[in-house]
Amino acid sequence: MSGDGVIDEIKRRLDIAEVVGDYLQLKRAGTSLRACCPFHDEKTPSFFVNPERQIYHCFGCGEGGDIFEFVQKMEGLEFPDALRLLAGKAGVKLQPGRGDDGQRSERRRLLEANALAAKLYHRLLLDDERAAAARQYVERRALSADTVESFMLGYSPDSWDATSKFLMSRGFSESELFRAGLSVKSDRGTGHYDRFRGRMMFPIRDVHGEVIGFTARVLPGADGRDPDGPKYVNTPQTLVYDKSRALYGINLAKQHIRREGLAVVVEGNMDVISSHQAGVENVVASSGTALTSEQLDLFRRFTDRLVLSFDADSAGESAAKRGIDMAIGAGFSVRMLRLPPDAGKDPDDCVRRDVELWKHAIAEAEPYMSWYLNLASERTDFSSAESKRRAAGELLQEIAKMPNQVEQSHWISELARMFSTPEAMLFEQLRRLGRPSPARGQTQPSAAASTTVTPPARKERTDICVEYLLGLALVWSSLSQTVVEGLADGELPAGLTELYSNYREFYTSTRSDGEKAPIFRSWLASRDKSAMARQAAVLELQAEQEFGELPPEGLREETGKLIGEFKSLQISHRRQELVRAMSAAERNGDLEKIKEIQRELGEMTV
Ligand SMILES: [Zn+2]
Repeated sequence: MSGDGVIDEIKRRLDIAEVVGDYLQLKRAGTSLRACCPFHDEKTPSFFVNPERQIYHCFGCGEGGDIFEFVQKMEGLEFPDALRLLAGKAGVKLQPGRGDDGQRSERRRLLEANALAAKLYHRLLLDDERAAAARQYVERRALSADTVESFMLGYSPDSWDATSKFLMSRGFSESELFRAGLSVKSDRGTGHYDRFRGRMMFPIRDVHGEVIGFTARVLPGADGRDPDGPKYVNTPQTLVYDKSRALYGINLAKQHIRREGLAVVVEGNMDVISSHQAGVENVVASSGTALTSEQLDLFRRFTDRLVLSFDADSAGESAAKRGIDMAIGAGFSVRMLRLPPDAGKDPDDCVRRDVELWKHAIAEAEPYMSWYLNLASERTDFSSAESKRRAAGELLQEIAKMPNQVEQSHWISELARMFSTPEAMLFEQLRRLGRPSPARGQTQPSAAASTTVTPPARKERTDICVEYLLGLALVWSSLSQTVVEGLADGELPAGLTELYSNYREFYTSTRSDGEKAPIFRSWLASRDKSAMARQAAVLELQAEQEFGELPPEGLREETGKLIGEFKSLQISHRRQELVRAMSAAERNGDLEKIKEIQRELGEMTV
């Protein structure tokens, strides 16, 4: 399929609520769903998704459109890539060629190179004789065939050019492989060689399951020990792979995260794989670094509750602290997971020993503040005033960062108990540390989302009245006549004149008593006025939100009031105009004009 046919087919097959729901937590609101807008900063949701009309619209910043516009905006994609992504979701085959070759983007090429490499590695792991050591690794780790399959584990051939040769035989250029991170430039000369050689391959996939890069682990020798050389080799930063945006396992974990209302963040890929294999699937890894604001933006699509599990070494601890700061600052609820002493050194170990231990550790994860308190109590010498003072000072600093005062005082009490210090004294110190700056609680929106949105110009009350009235007429056809007549003699705001005159034409030319709204929109669409059809849909959405709860008589009453208000606004505008014209006429000494204006003003004063 190609052209508009494809677009329509994709729209028919996909529900906008599901597409948007992959990114945002939507809550039902009447016939629509709502969320906080991903395109501007807000605390109360004004972003609506309407399944019936298949549109989204933010009444805060004015962003709106269909599934294609949403995905483009959200993912920072060009239309062809958004089309491809949604076609894949909808199971619609795109016709290759036709209008496509030219638009085949660089990004797409690199994703395809990675996907093909992942397939090659996976196939080799399954049945190539060269992959024997990798299969032993899989066996030692007791990874099931299902796990190998769903994580697409693989083996990279121990060769300088086998991967490149294979991919180049499939039409990729040397330079594309380099830009995909699959090959490395040779130190001498101009050649390239394969980056991943003789390693266990873990494809890293984005939220949609596209392979964006790899982590490659060295394979243990026959003695089970890792040979020399780096244990892990990773894809470098490329056009499609950015470590600070990636979350290992997110494509498989996302629906579980949403269902559980909770994401568990671990450090290692094997932690994720073992946990998923054991049936705990709301788990992802953050590639061993502190959480970034981009990763938090990704989480926010599915949940605002995180459980962090970091290795108990000092690097893990400082990563954890930075991650906590970021997440708290971005408004997440954060708990810390501690493995019980007999559970092994990392989640992978723990799951292997007993998955119930792992589940229990997740369920019992403690508020991050009590994790701080516990760490401090383990390290503080309570017989030393100096040591106590330092520890209390550090903890107070963490408490000062909390956005919520009720929480703060809870932890002050805990702190007072722990250090046997009067609460009042701690409160005094907290006060001196200062209130958290109001900027806290906001992360920078991701690059994709931060495409600057100019807020619409502030609306005049007249605009609002007319928007409401048209919306009322569109949603409740029994009000059409009242609205059409009520607006007939007025001067409508520029942006709404055309919509009104089309509606009037539609209204007078059709005699259907049925539901007018959808008919009007298709009436517009059939006249090549799809932009106006969308404007109508947004007004309907707005009217439904504003008046949806009212009984029929309430709707009629509201319509009457709005028409009354519209008319008196018209009069006062006209009066202002006349007053302005009057002073101009006086300046010009135009007596004729002055008389005329006086007459009209006199008639207006009722
Ligand atoms: Zn918005």
